[in-house]
Amino acid sequence: VDKSGIVSYKKKPTSELMAAIQLGIGQSVGGLSSKPERDVLMQDFGVVEVVFFPGEGSNLTPAHHYSDFRFKTYAPVAFRYFRDLFGIQPDDFMLSLCDEPLKELSNPGASGSIFYLTQDDEFIIKTVQHKEAEFLQKLLPGYFLNISQNKRTLLPKFYGLYCYQCSGKNIRFTVMNNLLPSTVKLHEKYDMKGSTYKRKASKHERSKSSPTLKDLDFMDNHPEGLQLEKDTYDALIKTLQRDCRVLESFKIMDYSLLVGIYNLDLANKEKQQQQIQLQQDKEQSENYGSSQSRSDRTDTRNSLHRGKSFKTRIGQYSTPMESIQGVTDLNEEIDEDTDVPSDIQTPHWLSNSHVSDCPGGIPARNAKGERLLIYLGIIDILQSFRLKKRLEHTMKSIVIDGDTISVHRPSYYAQRFLQYHATRVFKKTPTALKHSPSKKR
Ligand code: ATP
Ligand code: CA
Ligand code: CA
Repeated sequence: VDKSGIVSYKKKPTSELMAAIQLGIGQSVGGLSSKPERDVLMQDFGVVEVVFFPGEGSNLTPAHHYSDFRFKTYAPVAFRYFRDLFGIQPDDFMLSLCDEPLKELSNPGASGSIFYLTQDDEFIIKTVQHKEAEFLQKLLPGYFLNISQNKRTLLPKFYGLYCYQCSGKNIRFTVMNNLLPSTVKLHEKYDMKGSTYKRKASKHERSKSSPTLKDLDFMDNHPEGLQLEKDTYDALIKTLQRDCRVLESFKIMDYSLLVGIYNLDLANKEKQQQQIQLQQDKEQSENYGSSQSRSDRTDTRNSLHRGKSFKTRIGQYSTPMESIQGVTDLNEEIDEDTDVPSDIQTPHWLSNSHVSDCPGGIPARNAKGERLLIYLGIIDILQSFRLKKRLEHTMKSIVIDGDTISVHRPSYYAQRFLQYHATRVFKKTPTALKHSPSKKR
């Protein structure tokens, strides 16, 4: 951010970057429609398509009033197949990404990546480093193999990899699934790795209206963890286990589980308070004709409920609940190994109308017994152990006790990540707490 308040990335104003991204993706996805659908072949993963966007326009590209640029699409046919796999139609993809302005998110990460969110909440764009883009390219065949075998996953869904090229600069970015609803205000948000070393949100982060907290903050706020019904717990942990196995096989580490918590009981209280406040405001303004206090409250009101729901989602397997249990009303068989029931029994309170604000969250309770909906997924998986991490690891292990370092061997990392989430974060509801009679099999 410069003196005049203009946000830049690699010295490019982000407004220009955003516009170029929208032009580029529009052309790229639109251009694909002329290519017949076919099976993905190995060589498709290595393809890079380059299109030049001169300001005055060309027979392929529209005119624009930014600097001339080049737009690269990596593995277009492979990604088209991938989007199709998740039920994302080309038209929907284009509409979401290109038709309305993107929203820029403030990134709590240290890497300096920029994040954009589409208006409909569906997709996130993240700028990635050269090494990360390269790694994703190499990862693609194996990653596709895993995802097509198992759609029940919390791994990030990559829908595209692109590069914007202008005056010698390269800005690479991926399009991924957005994990957190922005239409309802989540009460808490955690980025957790299962490590304790430096895993506390900074003062600056905590002062934000919707901070992203870390492992130590979670253990402070939820020493007893989050309670899940047995079937839900089993499905979630099993999904995490499979995902970690995949990540480990690629020697990936340093990823996080992003967990958003929506507290229904708190939300209801907030709504009631709001109504009381509104009533008081009304009486006050009737008595004094003052509108002062009313405008003071607009803020709180907006931050609570904007009335729109997180989703009529366009893709499949896109809500957390679908990600761990699969979609049962599709024609296909989800999973052969059946130690996890594909139809998880949901608690009766989930059918209440006020849950319709944010469907698809995983039902849970906190230690106070309050009803929660949880949104989650694994993020930031483009760090491979073999890149530079080895050095970092050796250096840190001299200084700090090996067990608490957040950068460690991939298998150890996966193990600790799983252990932490399966024992500290998520817990099986003790039978005494159960509200519905136990299920007969
Ligand atoms: P660093 O490498 O410093 O950890 P980064 O720039 O690589 O950071 P990420 O770790 O990928 O960024 O993400 C940073 C934050 O952005 C997350 O903690 C989360 O709040 C948000 N975020 C990332 N990916 C998603 C997503 N798919 N959906 C919703 N929010 C996301
Ligand atoms: Ca991260
Ligand atoms: Ca990162």
